[in-house]
Amino acid sequence: MEWRRESKYNSFNSYKGLAYYEHYKNTVKWLDGEEKLCPPIECNLDPFAECNLNCYFCIVQRYIKNHREEVGLMRKLPTEYIYRLVDFLSSWGVKGLCISGGGEPSLHAGIWGIPQYAVSKGIDVSFVTNGVNISDKLAENLMSCRWVALSVDSGNREQYKVIKGRDSFDKVVSNIKRLSELRRKTNAKVDLCFKCLILPENMYSIYEICKLAKEIGVQDFHIRPVDFERKDINGYKKLAINVERVNDEFTKCHELETPDFRVYTITHKFDPKFHVKHDFSKCFPTLIMPLLTDGNIYLCVDKKMDAKFRVGSAFPDPEELLKIWGSDSHKELIKSVDINQCSRCTGSQYNAQIENTVIQDRMCLSFP
Ligand code: SF4
Repeated sequence: MEWRRESKYNSFNSYKGLAYYEHYKNTVKWLDGEEKLCPPIECNLDPFAECNLNCYFCIVQRYIKNHREEVGLMRKLPTEYIYRLVDFLSSWGVKGLCISGGGEPSLHAGIWGIPQYAVSKGIDVSFVTNGVNISDKLAENLMSCRWVALSVDSGNREQYKVIKGRDSFDKVVSNIKRLSELRRKTNAKVDLCFKCLILPENMYSIYEICKLAKEIGVQDFHIRPVDFERKDINGYKKLAINVERVNDEFTKCHELETPDFRVYTITHKFDPKFHVKHDFSKCFPTLIMPLLTDGNIYLCVDKKMDAKFRVGSAFPDPEELLKIWGSDSHKELIKSVDINQCSRCTGSQYNAQIENTVIQDRMCLSFP
């Protein structure tokens, strides 16, 4: 069980992809040369490439360390550029802006005002943070987000130091409590989500971590397997996770649920041993457009920073996206993907849905 029946309409349920059916159809037609590609649904923006923690499993930071030259020198997007980008995304019809991390976005000095600004332009915003550096003005802006993901991965100070590489647990817990309190006082609709990856260091204490999440006032607890299997990053391996014990922990976590505290134990993108699986044969990564600190867009969120998957630059003029997105080279890049070379695919279930519903019509969609 990944979620309770009452919670089946949730953000982590990959069947949400079927709501993008018209976008799926457009992508297939575009690849066949029959239509122009629609704008992406979401822009996934990395404003800052450095981090204040040192998580040993962080894919992007591991990639940056090993590929410094390819990644280049641009660590940070200028603030005025991000505002212009938001203006452009709004006029282009992009629905969501996820302010995320090739590093820690809260370290970008100008990012704090972006959530409210983007919302004022009709864009839903989400923010992914480790929760260490939450200023008052950022906290206030986060209240306008649709959701805020807080990557904590641990349930006590000692565990945190081992997993996150710094002694910031107390600060993070205090910041999350502050956000929860602000949400309550302002009656904000934001979902605060405590995030946890399953690691050898925490797999026997998932229930304790979930209890902590509930105590400090978040609405959602989200846990999933870590991906350590990207072969282009030094040190890749198949982690040995005690799946049976983890599932026992999951069961106890679900017992903590109330209508105001939901638990999501998300494993459907992995095989039963929590290793990478591919249950699709081609990819169609056009729902999400990752835009990174170097001003380039990349093919998908799992290929961030990899020069082979760079689609083109939208810096300094965001309007360049009109030429890059849906270009012939974008199309050729998608067609050239060998999915066997990929590790975990964030869009895996969307790829499977396109194959099964648009290409093969396995749900007989003319018959509701
Ligand atoms: S199959 Fe690979 S390139 Fe395609 S969307 Fe998934 S991770 Fe990205």
